[in-house]
Amino acid sequence: MKVGSLFAKKKVVSFEVFPPKPDVPIENIYRTLGTLKDLKPDFISVTYGAGGSAPGASTADICEAIQEQHQIASVAHLPCINETRESVLEKLQIFRQKGIENILALRGDRNPNLPPKTDFHYAADLIAFIREQGDFDIAAACYPEGHPEAPDLETDIQHLKEKVDAGAMHLISQLFFHNPDFYAFREKLARKGITVPMEAGIMPVTSKKSIERMVSLCGASIPSRLSKLMARYADDPVSLKAAGLEYAIVQILDLQSQGVDGIHIYTMNNPDVARYIMEQIGEEC
Ligand code: FAD
Repeated sequence: MKVGSLFAKKKVVSFEVFPPKPDVPIENIYRTLGTLKDLKPDFISVTYGAGGSAPGASTADICEAIQEQHQIASVAHLPCINETRESVLEKLQIFRQKGIENILALRGDRNPNLPPKTDFHYAADLIAFIREQGDFDIAAACYPEGHPEAPDLETDIQHLKEKVDAGAMHLISQLFFHNPDFYAFREKLARKGITVPMEAGIMPVTSKKSIERMVSLCGASIPSRLSKLMARYADDPVSLKAAGLEYAIVQILDLQSQGVDGIHIYTMNNPDVARYIMEQIGEEC
């Protein structure tokens, strides 16, 4: 099922999972999916390491399982920084064979140990290429606070427009913790004529370590209310997790009240966190 068509009918709720690391038993991800499916998300997206998949279940295998075993639409992430045209064509062929119709087309993060290939410089190049190859539903990433490499938000939005013009049909945002940033971003996109649906990416804070790692990777700013919570519960991981979940729920309820197109929950493969949040916000946002 093509997920782009959902936005015209409802407010979307989606989950993101990642293929297990090599030292984690493969069964874990299938058990996780078994729980996530009971929460009835509109789709589940599966990340893909820009440096390639770890041995074991690949992004495409997991997408296939989501669809075949759980009858939920899946979205395969596809970063292009280390791909050639030929390798992308091979991946698209695998997606077709496995019935995967939805792709989140990405550039991928630069890896200092892996010189980038030169066929695709930006996600927009990949989006245009996939569009030429056939009938995939294509999504793209967007950054409410601007992508860390962009000189400023305006320039980044101009490049986002290039992705939409190339064929991105909907957007999934980077995680953020300060809703006014998302609302201001949404207005800026509208002024630039970017009107495709956009999901708000929410990452529940479940530990000090996880949030620090994510923030260092993506550059999201931490509002004072959240940093105070982190300071207050610095030595109390159980309370920090409870406060982090509460923060995410308040964030989502506010986004719902402002009519966002959808909520994309970075589950970190933790079905209990996803379940708790879904119980608080309801199935539809
Ligand atoms: P692009 O849209 O290509 O943008 C990258 C940078 O280049 C930006 O600063 C942009 O402003 C700039 N730019 C774009 N076009 C031009 C141009 N013509 N000239 C000059 N500058 C330009 N990474 C993974 O490896 N695997 C994943 O599974 C994955 N999933 C993600 C899911 C979501 C929802 C998000 C938000 C990110 C995800 N990422 C993933 C991270 C993503 O790959 C990185 O953020 C990456 O650095 C940028 O990818 P992009 O597709 O946004 O790139």
